[in-house]
Amino acid sequence: MFSNVKASLQAKADLITKSLHQDNGDVFVDAMCKQIRAKYFDKHGNKKKLKKTNTDLFRVHDSGDLFSPRYIAAWIRICEAFPTIRFWFPTREWKRDAQLPHLQKLASLKNVCIKPSAIYVDEPAPQVDGLDAGTSVYTSKAKAEQDGHFVCPATYVKGEDGKVLATCQAHNCNLCFIKGCKKGIAYLAH
Ligand code: SF4
Repeated sequence: MFSNVKASLQAKADLITKSLHQDNGDVFVDAMCKQIRAKYFDKHGNKKKLKKTNTDLFRVHDSGDLFSPRYIAAWIRICEAFPTIRFWFPTREWKRDAQLPHLQKLASLKNVCIKPSAIYVDEPAPQVDGLDAGTSVYTSKAKAEQDGHFVCPATYVKGEDGKVLATCQAHNCNLCFIKGCKKGIAYLAH
């Protein structure tokens, strides 16, 4: 990982930890809401049209997870503040019994998809009560399909240059954001 990316992730993690301890997440919620508002909405409060970002959708966590009830509660506040955006959270925290009721509470919001991730490669996507259909990483498309998954096109469909078209927009796909989707999704390992 580039050192500037690492430093920025660390700064974000520090802000979250400090805020959760000192003000029950208020500073974090405020910072996140400001960030989303600035990126997704114009000064009149209308959704922006952006080339690289679908402003109806927000994927949460490039790294990290929903690690504590307080952090999950902070995200409930953020998601409630943006009812016109659909949020998708991948998580492995469903494995922790104490965490599950908090995840289910977040998943109960109409604009939130909580997708439990499989722990091991080539393991079927988990189905967990109160959460949306899960996801998994597979080493073989055939095996993933045999196990009943939709295989994410952004992990294998190539463009004219022979490179994988690795964005959801390239495939006009938003399955990971569809609440109530019952089909497990498999990402192909490269
Ligand atoms: S399944 Fe669709 S929405 Fe999910 S990551 Fe792949 S392309 Fe994006």
